[in-house]
Amino acid sequence: MRGSAPAAKQRAANTVINGYVNTARPVVRFWNHQVVGTLAQAQPGWLRNAQAQATGLFVAGIAEINGGNCTMQDGLRVCRGGGGALSQRGGTTYGNTFLTDDPGPFSAKTIAHEKEHVAQWKKYGNVFGYMYTVENIWVGNDPCQNRYEVAADAKGKSYGQC
Ligand SMILES: [Zn+2]
Repeated sequence: MRGSAPAAKQRAANTVINGYVNTARPVVRFWNHQVVGTLAQAQPGWLRNAQAQATGLFVAGIAEINGGNCTMQDGLRVCRGGGGALSQRGGTTYGNTFLTDDPGPFSAKTIAHEKEHVAQWKKYGNVFGYMYTVENIWVGNDPCQNRYEVAADAKGKSYGQC
């Protein structure tokens, strides 16, 4: 039973950490979405929109420099390839640009999902990149619990099959 003592100790430590995380989670998520979100929306709309455009152009430039190909589909800039680590999961939207390694074609539902992320980016400006990241960490990278993914799923495709 010599080996079990450290394991039990580790379990106890994990319980403390998980207990802390579980207690703090709703507070952090509320702070992130309500407080940071409200402050982000204090910026003028044209500025939040300009940030979404600039960030989208920036990542499209990175993709094209790295051999990707960007085209418009249903009002969304879609860059296939060249995103490298920026293309998370099936693809990731930054500002008004969807970066993906998927060659497509993309369904209307997929485009609608990603366009909701563009709308979220325009609503908060570049602060949204931070807000999304915080939300994602505190729901354990589970898209079915991430409020911004749940909203996008409601508009189109559900990648997580929630
Ligand atoms: Zn999404």
